[in-house]
Amino acid sequence: MFTHAEWKTRAAGLRFRNQCFIDGRFVPSASGARFETVNPATAEVLTDVARGGAEDIDRAVAAARRAFADGRWSGKAPAERKEVLLRLAALIRENVPELALLDSLDMGKLVKDAAAIDAPGSAHFFQWHAEAIDKLYDEIAPTGGRNLAMVRRVPLGVVGAVVPWNFPLDMATWKLAPALATGNSVVLKPAEQSPLSALRLAELAAEAGIPDGVLNVVPGFGEDAGQALGRHPDVDCLVFTGSTAVGKLFMRYAGESNMKQVWLETGGKSPNLIFPDADLDRAADMAAFGIFFNQGEVCSANSRMLVHESIADEMIDRMATRAAQARPGDPLDPSSAMGSMVDRSHADTVMRFIAQGRNEARLVCGGERISLNGSDAFIQPTVFAGAGPDARIVRDEIFGPVLSIQTFRTEEEAVAMANDTVYGLAASLWTRDLSRALDLSARLHAGTVSVNTVDALSAMTPFGGMKQSGFGRDLSLHSFDKYSALKTTWISY
Ligand code: NAD
Repeated sequence: MFTHAEWKTRAAGLRFRNQCFIDGRFVPSASGARFETVNPATAEVLTDVARGGAEDIDRAVAAARRAFADGRWSGKAPAERKEVLLRLAALIRENVPELALLDSLDMGKLVKDAAAIDAPGSAHFFQWHAEAIDKLYDEIAPTGGRNLAMVRRVPLGVVGAVVPWNFPLDMATWKLAPALATGNSVVLKPAEQSPLSALRLAELAAEAGIPDGVLNVVPGFGEDAGQALGRHPDVDCLVFTGSTAVGKLFMRYAGESNMKQVWLETGGKSPNLIFPDADLDRAADMAAFGIFFNQGEVCSANSRMLVHESIADEMIDRMATRAAQARPGDPLDPSSAMGSMVDRSHADTVMRFIAQGRNEARLVCGGERISLNGSDAFIQPTVFAGAGPDARIVRDEIFGPVLSIQTFRTEEEAVAMANDTVYGLAASLWTRDLSRALDLSARLHAGTVSVNTVDALSAMTPFGGMKQSGFGRDLSLHSFDKYSALKTTWISY
């Protein structure tokens, strides 16, 4: 799209939106507190952002409630909401370079990926949900007699959305598109590491015609703004994407407050099973994408490769070659293959896992931290082999570019190893044997099983987990279920 120099020039010319967005306006936080958001690839401060707290969440929820109650959005016909959301999709498309840069600068991902995948993806997801919303019909139950029982989907009211930093724009979009399409008002809290694209998105939404108060964005930290939203007595539904540990807190917040609905999409430790009859070159290419794309900061990253013992050595060699090609570099440089970790502290965490892995397994390649442009938040793509079932690098979500390769002898053993985890978000399976593919994909405990590919994903299919990867489903027509209640109206005549 642009050269390295052109991206740098555009980055230098950016204007950051750095206040809370409440009731259609940018406003400072009630306390006046601010926090710095740092470009992890240079360690430079980008801007300081209003640090929203409980009072700001109160103001945002009150604005959202007023907007919901007077029907300025909830009362519009689905086709009218569709038109506004389609305008938003068009505005996102017009602003792809800016939105891509905001995410890249905020959290270190490659700008070329953000411009090719994240930002156009956001436009696509808004468009898809907008186009779907006036094609969903309600029901009349077959009661018989002189009765008419209508079963209608109605919006819930005020939705709180708390999202992570790994795909800042898209994770917000996955919540906002169906929540807004169904007529709810929303208070969004972006991750403290990456608030900038959400604030710009709110501005674009207002420009598209989303009425004041319908979409509010409160940047801030998890323990204060996030918790205040989770515990708010006037929030009807809380949708969360993030870690399993914090997801559990949201269930507690709901139980200790107003029993709001809670939908969780949380962590993963996804297995990638490779059988000897697979196309091994393609499997290796896609496995490298599955663990090194977005620096491995992907919930469904294929962080555990399970290989049949007869092909283990050749797959380890292949992965070492692919890892060497995935060298991190300046996220604004289109020739870089990976960006930086989201921040220094997360890079420290990943390096601790790597240090532990050195004692638990054989380091095949990588394992070092890289300093670049004044930042040491870059990590080499790393491959371990031969870890035992209890190794931390096999059990814990590392959320970095670290792959563990283990071997199996039989299908039974492969399935047992794949399912031996508290997570169940995604799994991949490589074989040319159709029966095996169908049998095993049924037996793998995962919300999505990709056969002869990794991380298959579309607006048309539900995305979400089993076990401690959560139970909510984003995307697809099923996503509307989270944002609507079924309401029955009986008419006897
Ligand atoms: P995180 O759980 O630390 O933070 C997520 C959000 O929760 C942030 O907005 C944060 O401010 C907020 N938060 C943190 N502590 C809180 C608290 N005590 N109370 C209320 N809110 C709090 O996760 P992260 O580090 O931002 O993101 C990485 C995690 O997200 C990984 O586990 C990854 O697997 C998961 N993830 C899951 C999916 C999915 O669809 N299942 C998608 C992307 C990321």
